Amino acid sequence: MGLATAAGLLRQGAAVTVLERAASGRESSWAGGGILSPLCPWDYPEEVNRLALRGMRLFGDFAGELQHATGIDPEYRRCGMLVLPPFDRDRARQWCTAHGFGAEVRSEGLFLPDIAQVRNPRLMQALRARVEQLGGRIVEGCAVDRIVAEAGRVGHLATAQGDFSATAYIVTAGAWSRVLLGEHALQADIKPIRGQMLLFKFDAPPLPHIVLQKDLYLIPRRDGHLLVGSTLEDAGFDKSTTGEARAMLLQRAIALLPVLRGMPVIQHWAGLRPGSPGNIPTIGRHPQLSNLYINSGHFRYGVTMSPASVEVLLNAINGTPQPFDVSPYLWR
Ligand SMILES: Cc1cc2nc3c(=O)[nH]c(=O)nc-3n(C[C@H](O)[C@H](O)[C@H](O)COP(=O)(O)OP(=O)(O)OC[C@H]3O[C@@H](n4cnc5c(N)ncnc54)[C@H](O)[C@@H]3O)c2cc1C
Repeated sequence: MGLATAAGLLRQGAAVTVLERAASGRESSWAGGGILSPLCPWDYPEEVNRLALRGMRLFGDFAGELQHATGIDPEYRRCGMLVLPPFDRDRARQWCTAHGFGAEVRSEGLFLPDIAQVRNPRLMQALRARVEQLGGRIVEGCAVDRIVAEAGRVGHLATAQGDFSATAYIVTAGAWSRVLLGEHALQADIKPIRGQMLLFKFDAPPLPHIVLQKDLYLIPRRDGHLLVGSTLEDAGFDKSTTGEARAMLLQRAIALLPVLRGMPVIQHWAGLRPGSPGNIPTIGRHPQLSNLYINSGHFRYGVTMSPASVEVLLNAINGTPQPFDVSPYLWR
């Protein structure tokens, strides 16, 4: 969210510095699956789908521009997703019809042909390169320790590399946003929710599309990598992986794709999602500090929502019209 926001601001001529505690693009946005859709959109409130659907519509151009400008391919691909039972078929079909969302009934489930994916680490590399190409400065190893405010404005940030000051400040610290904000967080209710993933490698993709069954998904990458995810765990800021999650993911994945039995897990990792009530992010200006903004709390769908979320934030900063009602995302 930080890099995408920076790229959006740079494109409109602003000078931008990104302060990153560790290395840029290595946390949740790196760890995720890169499915560009809510898992079962019919299970989510309109506030989530509004932002996700707009993100999905903007993503092709967003990824295309990144690839064209940087030469790094984020592997945006409209591969489709097969949803397997159990799920509410009637509700799913009604929702797809109402939203003009492609859906094909198959004997084994419902195929959603318009759902795309990206390859997260490549997307992060491309975004980073784009930010630097547009003249942005990325300062790594620079944890923001404190937001120092007075008289209704942020004066400066106290960081591991000294004080930084700017005209405006945007918090995009993912799962850590609330900690960073401290007393200024107000109702931005964001907390870490851990997700674990497994990785396999085939010579060629073992599936032509994403497969989803309840919370378990299989994502085939173009080069034969297969991701299996994921868990939803309230484990604080602990990013460890567990044997229990590995066994559960493995067992459920083998049930869907028996060829996985006996195959080595080549990587197992965990990421911390910026969890928020109802999966509704907070985007916009602080109600009391006039030069403080936030773009965080996207929980399970931050990659999907990113182009739309940046659009909403830039409109809020510029005072330009929004594409839809953004009141659910306001910082209260
Ligand atoms: C296992 C898993 C699967 C997922 N699958 C999908 C999916 O398929 N599709 C989808 O759309 N979304 C998915 N997500 C969710 C998505 O990854 C997140 O919503 C999104 O990445 C959040 O982006 P972010 O920039 O807010 O957070 P992050 O990517 O975590 O970035 C926050 C950054 O802030 C930095 N930071 C933190 N504190 C400070 C500080 N004090 N000072 C300076 N820097 C700081 C961190 O180091 C980090 O680089 C998944 C997430 C996980 C974990």
